[in-house]
Amino acid sequence: MKKISHWVGGRSLTTAASRTAPVYDPATGEQTGEVALATASEVADVVKVAADAARSWGRSSLSSRSGMLFRLRELVHARADDFAALVTSEHGKVRADAEGELARALECVEFACGIPHLLKGAHSSEVSGGVDVHTILQPVGVVAGITPFNFPIMVPLWMTANALACGNAVVLKPSEKDPSPSLLLAELVREAGFPDGVFNVVHGDAEAVDALLVHPDVAAVSFVGSTPVAKHVYETGTSHGKRVQALGGAKNHMVVLPDADINVAADAAISAGYGAAGERCMAISVVVAVGSAADPVVDAIAERIPKVVVGPGGDPTSMMGPLITAQHRDRVRSYVGAAARDGATVVADGEDVPAGDGFFMGCALVDDVTPGMSVYDDEIFGPVLSVVRVGTYEEAVELVNANQYGNGVALFTRDGGIARRFEREVEVGMVGINVPIPVPVAWYSFGGWKGSLFGDAQMYGPEGVRFYTRPKVITSRWPDPATSVVDLGFPRTR
Ligand code: NAD
Repeated sequence: MKKISHWVGGRSLTTAASRTAPVYDPATGEQTGEVALATASEVADVVKVAADAARSWGRSSLSSRSGMLFRLRELVHARADDFAALVTSEHGKVRADAEGELARALECVEFACGIPHLLKGAHSSEVSGGVDVHTILQPVGVVAGITPFNFPIMVPLWMTANALACGNAVVLKPSEKDPSPSLLLAELVREAGFPDGVFNVVHGDAEAVDALLVHPDVAAVSFVGSTPVAKHVYETGTSHGKRVQALGGAKNHMVVLPDADINVAADAAISAGYGAAGERCMAISVVVAVGSAADPVVDAIAERIPKVVVGPGGDPTSMMGPLITAQHRDRVRSYVGAAARDGATVVADGEDVPAGDGFFMGCALVDDVTPGMSVYDDEIFGPVLSVVRVGTYEEAVELVNANQYGNGVALFTRDGGIARRFEREVEVGMVGINVPIPVPVAWYSFGGWKGSLFGDAQMYGPEGVRFYTRPKVITSRWPDPATSVVDLGFPRTR
């Protein structure tokens, strides 16, 4: 069985771990690996290595950093098949989806290649007699990245590319459920020429996370995961003096207006509801069917469900892979039964699955859902699509805005005027107009509203650069000693 250990100071640590966790192939249910879980003192050792490396890395030239990022981009691209295979074997998502994840991850590296441009400061000449002002953006030091299981290479690169480009050292704590893609990334970071110690991977669970959150040498924490943990990370990290961006869970709605093309909307609901078995923070989990759109859209989704081929992610005919663990699969399934008991209509129960011990579930569709039912109120994170029927556009917006989450939302319509109104009225961070998964491209930034993000910085893109740097404002004068005078008044611009 594969032993998965930490990566510190540019090499794999081989010491025996006192605690470990199992890693499974979700398609077979077999345990394929054992990952080390770091103790608080092991985390402290890794932070020390990162802090030592951060000092000289933070002073490295922008062109050398940019050059390494270009090389990293090429190395990751060349190993795309290996990354996709690792993601599929530990996460379970189908290969095409794993390849898509890597492609979006690479966009973040490509964005960071432009770091010399991104770190340009401002300069004001002659703000007062003989006085100039300019700004510089400096690294924060050691940054911790704590990532979820559902994007085991994309989310680590959301953080790592910008953090390294800005001159910081990184301690990445990936999900213990699918830890291997981060280690392949670590090898390529070294091969690209980054100095040892600027990128480290420490595996672990809550103990390792909590150690990072209170360590005095960790300056900033980027977190992506579920809302309760995001809130804990934000509160603990900020109370220990760190800047924290903590992205949480989601319940994304797709509003279908009566004028929408029903086939387009149904294709989108299937793709965004069941892609990656619903284990995406931008998955659609609620279709809000407005007025006369309801019956046709439910029928069109139901018609498509039997055509979704559920099977192992490595099989090219599979469209939807298994869930991450047996425990998670059982939890997701329980929501369908609960919905029926709560009075909703189960159109498809998701019970038709391939034989074997894989953690599979089929596509479930539940109609006549209302707020107050657990299938609506909770983030399920699986292939369960709810349909809420409302009478008007206004009721649809009211429903979305009342939700505790505000990550993504989509509107399907052919009416440009109503779409424009929706963009402004909906209280959600990322909005798609006839686009079901509106994940921003890498030169924008990613982040939800309400319970989907704690802190005020979004992830990656320009916001990522801002999060990983500290601005400094320098006011300078080169006076003629002959004009020097004593003046105890508060300096005024003249
Ligand atoms: P999770 O919250 O269980 O775990 C995330 C990370 O936190 C992991 O590294 C884990 O080891 C650590 N962790 C878990 N419990 C902890 C605790 N009690 N204390 C400290 N650390 C802890 O999330 P997950 O199940 O890995 O991922 C799925 C969740 O992530 C979903 O809620 C999904 O919506 C969310 N997510 C959000 C986004 C986003 O951008 N908003 C993106 C991807 C996933």
